[in-house]
Amino acid sequence: MTSVQDRSVVILGSGPAGLTAALYAARANLIPLVLKGVDAGGQLMLTTEVENFPGFPDAILGPELMERMEKQAARFEAELLHQEATRVDLSSRPFGVWSGDEEWRAKTLIIATGAKAKMLGLESERRLLGHGVSTCATCDGFFFRGQELLVVGGGDSALEEALFLTRFATKVTLVHRRGQLRASKIMQDRALAHPKIEVLWDSVVEEVLGDGQVAGARITNVKTSETADVAAGGVFVAIGHTPNTALFEGQLEMQNGYIAVEEPSTRTSVEGVFASGDVVDFVYRQAITAAGMGCQAAIDAERFLEAQGH
Ligand code: NAP
Repeated sequence: MTSVQDRSVVILGSGPAGLTAALYAARANLIPLVLKGVDAGGQLMLTTEVENFPGFPDAILGPELMERMEKQAARFEAELLHQEATRVDLSSRPFGVWSGDEEWRAKTLIIATGAKAKMLGLESERRLLGHGVSTCATCDGFFFRGQELLVVGGGDSALEEALFLTRFATKVTLVHRRGQLRASKIMQDRALAHPKIEVLWDSVVEEVLGDGQVAGARITNVKTSETADVAAGGVFVAIGHTPNTALFEGQLEMQNGYIAVEEPSTRTSVEGVFASGDVVDFVYRQAITAAGMGCQAAIDAERFLEAQGH
């Protein structure tokens, strides 16, 4: 049995929100503990070029940006553990935080657990995940050199994936359930002008085809009800994200499935618990807004501790 450690600030998650919270809490001498989680670094770890994070006029790779953020937090004595919280008890302060049989007692908790990729929910999609079905072009695109690929979705993520995949694929077909894209104008312009990208409008994937490895997808046009089998070596699902809130269900108030905060602060429905980044934000969802909220959460936690006389 391990001993229980007391901490002023425990931060869950190590994306832009968690690491910015760690930087600010560390510089306030609160020696925060960061449980980085299994997907340490968050969604930017699955991104190539980040062109819209201020301070990097020539762009920076997502994983490199996260490495820099982590180094910066560690420089001010944030303690970072490559572990995930498996249970939290927010019913009384200090809060209980567990990772397996390790336990911490936290005076304040900053939740920055982010969000993860949504799936279509097809049995064939689950079966062929990692065998041609992917949610990450950056991670897997290289394996599909010289092949024809499908990307499902019509938002910025889908278009970003489609554009990235043109580096490897001979053709990328975007499958979108409506006749209009949700993505930003600039991404639409880029994708629709790309000679390798084609769009199947008003179309849904009924089934991913393949025995052991993806061979294509059965696609139905929702307007005409026509169904066709389209050959492809890979199917990239890029239909949005789900916030990582399972640990907090029944313990914190939610809004649309995301953790509710008392805007403009990062205060949640439990005093002493703060939340920031993609686990809260279903509107902006940017690395820079997540980092900004992480900063707010650390300042909110610091002020809370001060008001409590710590
Ligand atoms: P999103 O904007 O929510 O778009 C999800 C897309 O997937 C929509 O087109 C949606 O169709 C479709 N979709 C959802 N569920 C589906 C299902 N079950 N079957 C088929 N299609 C489905 O998600 P996102 O593209 O991940 O973007 C999220 C946020 O991050 C946005 O604010 C976006 O601007 C931002 N983002 C920005 C960048 C960038 O700036 N470079 C890159 C990536 C993401 P409908 O349109 O019909 O709803």
